[in-house]
Amino acid sequence: MSGGKDDGHKPWLQELRTQLDQVDGDIIKLVAKRFDTVDQILKAKVGHTQGIRDPERERQVLAKVEAIAQSVGLSGPLARKIFAEILAHSVTRQAATLSPLDAGARIAYQGSPLTYNHLAAQKYAAGQGSTGDFLGTATIREAVERLAAGGVDVALLPIENTAAGSINEVYDILREREFHIVGEETYKVDLCLAGPAEIPLSGIERVHSHPLALDQSSLFLAALPGARRVPVVDSAEAMRLVAEANDPTQAAIGSPEAAGAFGLAVLRRGIGNQDEILMRYVALAREPAAFDARIPCKTSLILTTRHEQGALLRCLQVLADYALSLTKLESRPHPNRPWEYMFFMDFEGNIADAKVADALDELRTQALFLKVLGCYPVKAKPAEVVASGVRNAGAPTIPAVTTSDTPSAAAPATVPAAVRRPRDHGKHHRLVDRAERGDTLVRVGDVLIGGTGFTVMAGPSLVESKDQIEATAAFVRQHGAHVLRGGVFRPGAGPGTFTGLGEAGLDLLVAAGKAAGLPVVTEVLAPEQVRAVAAKADILQIGARNMQNFALLAEVGKVDRPVLLKRGLSSTIEEWLAAAEHILAHGNGQVILCERGIRTFESATRNTLDLSAVVVLRERTHLPVVVDPSHGTGKRAYVTPMAFAARACGAHGLLIEVHPAPDQALSDGEQSLDFPGFAALMAGLGRTRPA
Ligand code: PEP
Ligand code: MN
Repeated sequence: MSGGKDDGHKPWLQELRTQLDQVDGDIIKLVAKRFDTVDQILKAKVGHTQGIRDPERERQVLAKVEAIAQSVGLSGPLARKIFAEILAHSVTRQAATLSPLDAGARIAYQGSPLTYNHLAAQKYAAGQGSTGDFLGTATIREAVERLAAGGVDVALLPIENTAAGSINEVYDILREREFHIVGEETYKVDLCLAGPAEIPLSGIERVHSHPLALDQSSLFLAALPGARRVPVVDSAEAMRLVAEANDPTQAAIGSPEAAGAFGLAVLRRGIGNQDEILMRYVALAREPAAFDARIPCKTSLILTTRHEQGALLRCLQVLADYALSLTKLESRPHPNRPWEYMFFMDFEGNIADAKVADALDELRTQALFLKVLGCYPVKAKPAEVVASGVRNAGAPTIPAVTTSDTPSAAAPATVPAAVRRPRDHGKHHRLVDRAERGDTLVRVGDVLIGGTGFTVMAGPSLVESKDQIEATAAFVRQHGAHVLRGGVFRPGAGPGTFTGLGEAGLDLLVAAGKAAGLPVVTEVLAPEQVRAVAAKADILQIGARNMQNFALLAEVGKVDRPVLLKRGLSSTIEEWLAAAEHILAHGNGQVILCERGIRTFESATRNTLDLSAVVVLRERTHLPVVVDPSHGTGKRAYVTPMAFAARACGAHGLLIEVHPAPDQALSDGEQSLDFPGFAALMAGLGRTRPA
């Protein structure tokens, strides 16, 4: 204790202290004035797409204050440190002004009050200028269900831990469910040991906590040989148990906040194996959020790569070409496809920025399936390192692009590809364009559709009964078919007519396919059916009557399932490609085009099978093209010759209607092959599949 009483007798000291308080007050007022000025700049910039964070400008500011500091005899690094803090705060402030969470937003987290998850949720809300209304749930799944049901606005879920790595459960939720990431948060896990009183560590016999917290304090615990680990549901519960026991041989590991709340004494802080253990969280909402282009954002996505060598590398190259830095790459096993993976990527970039939109477009041409999980303000990013000596002046500049009449001349490596390969806004259907890439191979079960393969999909027009579909599945498989077809929702069924067996029919189709070892294709009629059918069927068929149902196309574009897109009854190839483009633009690149005949003046056949479309499409698109001669001709006798013709002109496969008793078929009997007819077709194609 210094003699405060004595100091009071020294008026000069008193005066200096008053002066100091005055200076401190002035510093704070100046900082506030600085923020005000920044706010004014921000308002003036509204509508501009220039980022809030301007690294070049920040470097200049820091260099300038360092120089001023040195000129008045102050430490340059100190000035830098102070201003780095001010600049960082300024960015958070601006981002919050532009994207406020509702003041009383309801936020779910997993755990009980004062667990790290709860503290992180509080930090997230505060950063958004919200007081938050918090709901702790027993499990992560429960938090998600609350969000789905509308009980909360946001679920803040832990996605990775700098010591333990990724939390797979949350990745699986992002893949399976239709939520959007609207924010992220980081939280420094301060692992502290607390007991009922200031007890000696050597006397501790039991240490309670969440298993992860116990693991991450293992080195510290190893030095307490008498202590046994007691795993409990969460760290706050551990604190509660220890407070209740009030026993000097028991301690808990958790947050200092929880220790305080339960009246425990903190015996030791920072007991983690690593100096700094950080949790990263994602804030999920039911709707996506849009953030002003000036807010530094991260974009997260799920991606499935093409079935070819170097596919992942080409996707990563797109990000590199657009100078977007990848902050996270995680792979998870693809459900139902052993040894195949889905990739989760985070990169720095705001979707509102045209460059990012272009890069995503480019990625869609490379990926087989792509889903944007969300775009949200950056909170977690690696520390920026500045190479010494290149702070601002003398930084290399990107050479200007000059036009050259020697197009083969390589562009300088420093010119981003975004400049080298400008997006061709004049081209209508860029994603399906053959010029963009080589043949797309669509994987279904163990077959690849497209490329040099020839795939036969066969089965009844409609699933009518268990016996009918089982017998057909077994027969077509025995004769070399690769995929089983069967309608369960009948398009254009008039009132009083058979509408198909619906979901029960889908189960029969899937079971028959499984028994025969064939994947299945079936038609979806409405956007609401897509997810349920995609959960069971291997390929989703879009019927001719729905080719321009854009809501339906968007929905199949959002699921990771191949789509068989039939040509509209009176659609041009251009319109058909536009429909395919729509599906690709929503993220699903697994589209197979199916020519099934068009309406012409000719009435000798049900439709006019336009085989010239196959050659046109082979030239114009990288997507596989198959032919349906059943609907294309409407007559059994014409099906086989046109099937041969389809293969001769370059189709990648066939869709054939086959029925055990075509004369009794509930739909399209006159164009369905019977079993001997199908056997003859397959023999003619030169393929029989050994049973
Ligand atoms: C079908 O394949 O059963 C069907 C209804 O086809 P389309 O949509 O081509 O008429
Ligand atoms: Mn049919």
